[in-house]
Amino acid sequence: MVSPMPPCERIAGATRAYRVRGMAPAIGVAVVAFAFAVGAVWARGDREVVLDIQLNTGGQVRGRILDGNDDVVVLECDGFPCAFGYDQLLPDGAYRARLAVLTWLRGGREGITAADHYSLGRLALRHQLAGYANRCFVAATKLDAAYRPRGAEARVEFREARRAAGAGRGEQPIAGAKGSERGADAESAGLVFPNGAHVRDEDAARRAAVIAGYKRVGEDIRRQVGSDLALRETEHFLIWTDWARAERGALESWCEEMYTSLARRFGVSGGESIFAGKCPVYCLRSRKRFTQVAGLLDHYDVRGALGYTSSAPNGHVHVVVCRQGGSLAARDAFASTLIHEGTHAFLHRYRSTRRIPMWLNEGLANCVAEAVLGDRCSNDRAAEAVGRAVVSGGYTYGAMFADSGMLDARYYAVAHGLVAHLIDRDATGLVGMIDDIKLGASGGAALEGRFGLTFESLDRAWRDEHR
Ligand SMILES: [Zn+2]
Repeated sequence: MVSPMPPCERIAGATRAYRVRGMAPAIGVAVVAFAFAVGAVWARGDREVVLDIQLNTGGQVRGRILDGNDDVVVLECDGFPCAFGYDQLLPDGAYRARLAVLTWLRGGREGITAADHYSLGRLALRHQLAGYANRCFVAATKLDAAYRPRGAEARVEFREARRAAGAGRGEQPIAGAKGSERGADAESAGLVFPNGAHVRDEDAARRAAVIAGYKRVGEDIRRQVGSDLALRETEHFLIWTDWARAERGALESWCEEMYTSLARRFGVSGGESIFAGKCPVYCLRSRKRFTQVAGLLDHYDVRGALGYTSSAPNGHVHVVVCRQGGSLAARDAFASTLIHEGTHAFLHRYRSTRRIPMWLNEGLANCVAEAVLGDRCSNDRAAEAVGRAVVSGGYTYGAMFADSGMLDARYYAVAHGLVAHLIDRDATGLVGMIDDIKLGASGGAALEGRFGLTFESLDRAWRDEHR
């Protein structure tokens, strides 16, 4: 069976734009998009519920439902629980997947409640499926007349949310943002930062030269793909985007909120910048544009991906992400991918360009997206649901803790859970662990040194959380 998601980090060809010779930049590939078709559905506890997932890039996954909630469905894929957020699915597939989960939870269609129909209607509105939403609200009202005004209210709410997003408003307070960072004591004094990482203020001339170089590359891309690709410059990012003008403000907010969150977590002061100059980020409105830009910039085939980070051994990083559709769900999925990839870019340049183990890299990227976006990101709920499914089903995973190589994308949610577990124990300890690895320690030695844990005891502690 084809793995439902490609590995996030992979070695690809040299980055043309920055003339990296003899060194292969690491390319991180985030989230794939799916077209979704529902297979046979039976009652929970009676017979298994099976979903067929048709990848819009050609692959196919079939798995029985192990768990599901308002945000994610967990399928057994290739013998292991794998979580899919509804926001990561195409609209029709998201609706059908949620309906299948509800049917499974309630033991059949007839068990679906008015509240279920209402929540399914809200999901339909998130994906801009007005017709489906209307049918759901009618079904909810048939079961309970109290839902009659709530359907109309939900339509107004989502219409206003879309309008606010289009006007670049609604970005200031992020509802449910967790802000879990407790600060971090990075030991910055006296350390040498290889490859230009942690560039300081006094290197202003060098920073300016690097930024000018990045702008020339972006301008070259713009000439080749179209003049609607515009540059928005913030304190730490060069954002090239073809999004509608009214929506571009959100991109600046997401990037800078991510940077602030990471800088606070890793103790990077305002007088320093992690990036060599600024980090180029390409935020694209369509798969077509994404494919075009990734090809020009990196000669990179992005089939199966929604975003990637190019992390070159010489310290250059850039991020490329695409949006799939205009719905609120597609927008939030984009934001989650952007922050996940941006975290890889930041980590690549933190202290040294030595690569950190993939479970730590992927897990932390998912945790940061969750911390910045709060309730608009389903990573946390995916990690919880997968944790429950792994423990209740007695599943074991394969090569999770290797210091090098790829991590199977099916394990991302577990990696998230393991990293979140370490952050809950000691957020400063996690930063120290990454410091140690960046300065040469193995993943196992750093875990032992900072937490007194082995991989086995970490796994046991994580499992105990989900019993
Ligand atoms: Zn990743």
